[in-house]
Amino acid sequence: MFNAVLIEKDDAGYRASLRELDDAALPEGDVTVKVEYSTLNYKDGLAITGKGPVVRKFPMVPGIDLAGTVEASSHPGIAVGDRVLLNGWGVGEGHWGGLAQRARLKGEWLVPLPAAFTPREAMAIGTAGYTAMLCVMALERQGVTPDKGEVLVTGANGGVGSVAVAVLAGLGYTVVASTGRPDEADYLKALGATEILDRAQFAAPGKPLARERWAGAVDTVGSHTLANVCASTRYRGTVAACGLAQGMDLPATVAPFILRGVTLVGIDSVMAPREERIEAWSRLARDLDPAKLALMTREIGLGETIDTAAALLEGKVRGRVVVDVN
Ligand code: NDP
Repeated sequence: MFNAVLIEKDDAGYRASLRELDDAALPEGDVTVKVEYSTLNYKDGLAITGKGPVVRKFPMVPGIDLAGTVEASSHPGIAVGDRVLLNGWGVGEGHWGGLAQRARLKGEWLVPLPAAFTPREAMAIGTAGYTAMLCVMALERQGVTPDKGEVLVTGANGGVGSVAVAVLAGLGYTVVASTGRPDEADYLKALGATEILDRAQFAAPGKPLARERWAGAVDTVGSHTLANVCASTRYRGTVAACGLAQGMDLPATVAPFILRGVTLVGIDSVMAPREERIEAWSRLARDLDPAKLALMTREIGLGETIDTAAALLEGKVRGRVVVDVN
């Protein structure tokens, strides 16, 4: 038997609860993992509260991330006792996920836990942090170097935003943070932001083109914010778009792209190829200051995940939440 968060949907409605489940209920897979830590991302918040159509099968154990130790494996190259990490691949959406003490998975989804991280640290980073690194790598690929000018991070107090601020500042970029929580300015400055902007200035409909400011940007917010960020990006600058905290829409014009040569790069962490994941994790080991990671991380137990998921969607959670499932 093992403890898990379970999401059900039936005549009684959509609900999540903490449950004790039988090993026999675990889904198909060639690797069984004793989960040590999981985490809460925005998508887990949507799944647990039912506020977004994330879960595709019921009942579902949520949790798009997990770190733990292999208990059984028939997958070539994965042995009992290996420490492993999983991010995405539809786990916690269409296949039982990490907010549980045990998981059964496809071995091809797992990557070795990087030697630099404990399972807890890897989950403090989680999909949010790994996505932030994918955004940074995309900016680098487009030639956005620290000497090119200021880089904007939107949704800066969130998980992706906090890691993006910390990594970019560590790499020597001048980082400007946009947030709806200006009272967290000291926190964002401790992560490395040099200036804090009120997100209200990006949130409302804006002009097709605005004053050129950003050499690059990491946007976790979407909607008018992303449109306004593109409109204020400098000639040949790059915006990495990964999120939709404000909305899924993109009410923009082509002006920034055809008049300023701005590049909009889409970032997807869920199906990203294995080599890119391994690269992102090794970059996190190199470029994310562990003291800053500790500053942005709060730990909760499995029993607290349901309430915390609701708070996360209300924008009340700062940085990252790591879940000790045991
Ligand atoms: P968090 O909830 O931790 O962060 C989201 C942040 O967005 C909030 O902290 C808040 O920051 C800001 N925000 C919230 N609501 C609004 C709003 N209505 N308008 C403007 N800003 C808002 O989530 P994560 O960091 O885990 O994820 C961030 C986004 O990235 C999500 O949309 C998520 O779905 C997406 N994502 C996408 C991935 C991919 O593969 N493409 C992978 C991981 C995440 P502040 O208080 O500073 O304003």
